[in-house]
Amino acid sequence: MFSSVRRHLGLKLFLSYMLVIVVGIVVLASAVETVAPTAFDRHLSEMAAMMANMPAGMGGMGGMGGMGMLERQTANLELDLFTNFRKAVNEALLWAALAAFAAAVLTSIFVSRRIVTPVREMMLASRRIAEGEYRERVRVPSNLMWDELDDLERLALSFNRMANKLERTEATRRELIGNVAHELRTPLATIKGSMEGLIDGVLPASPATFQQIYREVDRLQRLVDDLQELSRVEAGAFTLNRRPVAVRDLVEATVNRLARQFADKGVTLETSVGDDLPLVWADEDRIGQVLLNLVGNALQYTPPGGRVTISARPAGEMVEIAVTDTGIGIPAEHLPHLFTRFYRVDKSRSRVGGGSGIGLTIVRHLVEAHGGRVHVASDGPGKGSTFRFTLPVKK
Ligand code: ADP
Repeated sequence: MFSSVRRHLGLKLFLSYMLVIVVGIVVLASAVETVAPTAFDRHLSEMAAMMANMPAGMGGMGGMGGMGMLERQTANLELDLFTNFRKAVNEALLWAALAAFAAAVLTSIFVSRRIVTPVREMMLASRRIAEGEYRERVRVPSNLMWDELDDLERLALSFNRMANKLERTEATRRELIGNVAHELRTPLATIKGSMEGLIDGVLPASPATFQQIYREVDRLQRLVDDLQELSRVEAGAFTLNRRPVAVRDLVEATVNRLARQFADKGVTLETSVGDDLPLVWADEDRIGQVLLNLVGNALQYTPPGGRVTISARPAGEMVEIAVTDTGIGIPAEHLPHLFTRFYRVDKSRSRVGGGSGIGLTIVRHLVEAHGGRVHVASDGPGKGSTFRFTLPVKK
């Protein structure tokens, strides 16, 4: 019995109402029993005294002879009156108690509906979510704004928001594991195949075979590095060492690092950065990484004979840096997804090139951590692409 009371909020509420009612009645009844007789006595004595002092014509008892009788009559009257008064009070208390009891029942039913039912609904929903049913939600009045909701409705809304977030996180986690498994499978299968070929003597133990295995291992290593970096930037687990930086220096550093590869592939690398550009407030290493990814991609997706241009221009409180190439371009339907992790326009094409679709996601996180935005544009396949990002000007 006690444990069920402890568990049921509705019952607890009802019992607390009852307790208040019982305390109220006990206090009233004891007040009637203790305080009332004295007060009653005092008031009646005052009344009797007043009547005794009244002239005879006005109903006063006047005269010495009536004194003893008067006192007796007064005492009898007082006792009589008090007994009746007490009866009346007790009767009134009984009716009041019944009315209060009925009110307690009705109120606790109403409060149960308003409080206990939604709380129980949330409890069941949270239990189902804990069991893995992330689509579970509780009812919230959909037509009201946050300010118009009561505390419980706000709790329900916050609960639903938490459930949304959990559902998304869970979906991302599943997708991530699926993607990673998928990414690992191909190089591992290739390495395994080559090894089997070598063991069976089907493949010659030539430098070309080892080269192929090496390439796959290298890809695996890059994938693992990218994943580590991705988890760091997605969790925001990195610090930005920001200081005033000249965009020209950033661009030059990138050009120096990639010049050789551009020359090897036969792609021209140009820069167009004005002298009057303001300094940006950035972490040099991180933005170097952003540029390296964008220019590296431009090189990867631009055939020999093409051209890649790095340019920068002021844009209000920001500086906009653009990497434009004359490469294979991107179909419009893919543009909105490019900065999503593991997204590749043409999976087989990228796989040959060794891409895992993580680079642009890292770019987006790093730029956004600086307070900037990334953007991509392309006129379509074969028409080149332009990746732009902004950085805040040093104040
Ligand atoms: P990846 O490692 O595959 O290059 P990214 O995140 O850097 O991963 O790029 C995602 C996808 O965006 C690439 O697979 C490619 O399809 C497309 N992409 C990126 N840069 C370019 C570009 N300059 N030209 C054409 N396509 C590009």
